[in-house]
Amino acid sequence: MALMSTKNSLILRVAVATPLYRLFDYLAPVGNDISQLSPGSRIEIPFGKGKRFGVLIEIATNSEIAHDRLRHAIRCIEKDKLPGELLALCQWAADYYHHPIGEVIATALPTLLRRDETISDAKINYWSLTQTGKEYDNKALARAPRQQALLSQFQCSDKPLLSRADLDRCGFAWHAPLKALIEKQLLQQSEPNSNASTPTSHIELNTDQDNAVKQIKERLNDFTCFLLEGVTGSGKTEVYFDAMQAALDQNKQCLLLVPEIGLTPQLTQRIQKRFNDLFVAYHSGLNNSERARAWRDAADGTAKIIVGTRSAVFLPLKNPGLIIVDEEHDLSFKQQDGFRYHARDIAIRRAQKLNIPIVLGSATPSLESNENTRNKRYQWLHLPKRGGDAKPPTVELIDMRRQALKGSLSPLLISHIQATLDKQQQVLLFVNRRGYAPALFCHDCGWIAKCQRCDANMTVHHAKHCLRCHHCGSQRSLDKQCKDCQSEELTTLGFGTEQIEDTLKGLFPYQRIIRIDRDTTQQKGSMNALLTQVEEGQGDILIGTQMIAKGHHLPNVTLAAILNADQGLFATDFRALEHLAQLIVQVTGRAGRGNKAGHVLIQTHHPEHILLQTLIKDGYREFCQQLTRERKDAELPPFSYMALLRAEAIDETSPMQFLQSAKEHAETIATDTLYLLGPIPAPMTKRAGRFRAQLLIQANDRRSLHQLLRQWVRQLSSNKLSRKVRWSIDVDPMDMN
Ligand code: ADP
Ligand code: ZN
Ligand code: ZN
Repeated sequence: MALMSTKNSLILRVAVATPLYRLFDYLAPVGNDISQLSPGSRIEIPFGKGKRFGVLIEIATNSEIAHDRLRHAIRCIEKDKLPGELLALCQWAADYYHHPIGEVIATALPTLLRRDETISDAKINYWSLTQTGKEYDNKALARAPRQQALLSQFQCSDKPLLSRADLDRCGFAWHAPLKALIEKQLLQQSEPNSNASTPTSHIELNTDQDNAVKQIKERLNDFTCFLLEGVTGSGKTEVYFDAMQAALDQNKQCLLLVPEIGLTPQLTQRIQKRFNDLFVAYHSGLNNSERARAWRDAADGTAKIIVGTRSAVFLPLKNPGLIIVDEEHDLSFKQQDGFRYHARDIAIRRAQKLNIPIVLGSATPSLESNENTRNKRYQWLHLPKRGGDAKPPTVELIDMRRQALKGSLSPLLISHIQATLDKQQQVLLFVNRRGYAPALFCHDCGWIAKCQRCDANMTVHHAKHCLRCHHCGSQRSLDKQCKDCQSEELTTLGFGTEQIEDTLKGLFPYQRIIRIDRDTTQQKGSMNALLTQVEEGQGDILIGTQMIAKGHHLPNVTLAAILNADQGLFATDFRALEHLAQLIVQVTGRAGRGNKAGHVLIQTHHPEHILLQTLIKDGYREFCQQLTRERKDAELPPFSYMALLRAEAIDETSPMQFLQSAKEHAETIATDTLYLLGPIPAPMTKRAGRFRAQLLIQANDRRSLHQLLRQWVRQLSSNKLSRKVRWSIDVDPMDMN
């Protein structure tokens, strides 16, 4: 009986997705034996006046809340619970990023697992032809066109098994015809043979690749962080694949993280061709039940290879063996709102805790990762040459000063475009802005069309006859008159993808021009469709934003150009130069990937810029070394640690007041290794109708930074002004806006 009563006084501590830095205490559900509940389970609780789902974090013996005021949880769902390893990872992340645990866990779980909905038990199924099906003449199915189409899908495929994802590509509802074909014994359900994964296409690795794979294989059973540096086309993916194979041979799972737009059909096809093992993709294009199913397949070990974007770093793994982060420098690994985590950094931490190797791959490693190879925390693997017989492209700066420009194109660039087209080869032009022009202004008085909710100019979109704000999404029809002087002499300033397209149409009226930016790729899959057109030679000139700088392999593109490199040269953000260099190298990687030599042109008004010169003449590594020296002298990351406290409100004064009071409080805790810079209004002070300000904390060592943040969080939550402002902490900020 005594035991019973202590059990009954045990407390469930529950994480709930709220912006509060705390857990919530409950008593066990009535009639539930607490000893059967375990951390990681979903738990339904009364919350305020309603009900919510949370995750059980721990079972405690006491609570700060009086026992008679505690409420009973409603029920507990043990199925699909968060494994202990992930729970610990979430707790670490909440601690490191100083973010409320409930929201961290909500990020880690697919939507369906944050509620009580059950996931369908259907596994990722595979189907194959039966012997009869292989020999069957599908003309006999002429009266059932869908069955006919589906069967020919199997008969024409070079893969023995087709998955749901493969069938989804056939573009019609395939469930009923599939069922019919199974009943006719033409198709059968199959399971891939996960032990005997015989590679279907195997490339002989070159010496550098071979060496990289060997080093990874040697450390397969403990933690090592590798940085695999190799230009685009140097064969990094082949190295990943061989390393993955080694982990699969030990019956372990591989997690491959890719940037937001890196998950192309080309990559998934390559994985499917190479591995027979069950493979799942996890990205924002999936619906809720697909995501939940992928989660479960990763958790129970059904999926051997998991490829996903940022949030896939939180997928449960039954038998983890290897983590790979492709394009580790890519900004899309950092979440820029809410829980501002960096998936690469969490992946490294996770690999360390799991004691497994992790490979970071890039043609342009971040300065942070570079520094970590220099100080031997990471092991450097290098692929200096392009694979196969592809030659490195030549890179040239075009001095734009005093040139007679056509729109934004210099005569030299135009003649290079012409020459490339004459050779029946393709051209890729990179522009950093979409729309027609980044501003509309009055020729008579200088008035500029501004967004009413942001400190930003409206972008002109000619095709849609409107002005749009790229920061808050506001839109209005194109002004015909100046709002100040009523003049009708309105002109645009600067250029975007739409305008370049117009200029090119004028210059090359008989060429096929394809534009790829957010405006032309709103529909799911449309970007890949457009890129496939280019790949198949259906476009001569491709214009695009950042989106086209990576991913797709376009063998017939031999000329790539960056139309304006200057923005990155003089931006206030200390990382801008690093990002510009990465972009230049990425764009360079787009030119001449087949056996034809590539050429890259960069238009600039500052061709003498030292770092730009270094990058062009001596390459990215040398550029990095110089930039690293500058960062060291200026005590900027990776030689110091930063956090940004942001605040925003609908009135102009409270964010600054709040931050000022936060600063005063910090000064009472801060040590002399900490610097508080600000508060200052954010570079874009007003965005989407809210005024924003920020306070930067810079530290020489991580520990004192985190000590301050930990104490701060408590104080900030109780600060009276905190009710009027929205505030957030960004640890290791990547974007200072
Ligand atoms: P990365 O991932 O570094 O961009 P990939 O692995 O995609 O490079 O390789 C680029 C191209 O070179 C691919 O078409 C690939 O098949 C080919 N390739 C890679 N390694 C070799 C090799 N050792 N021999 C021949 N071709 C190779
Ligand atoms: Zn005017
Ligand atoms: Zn706006």
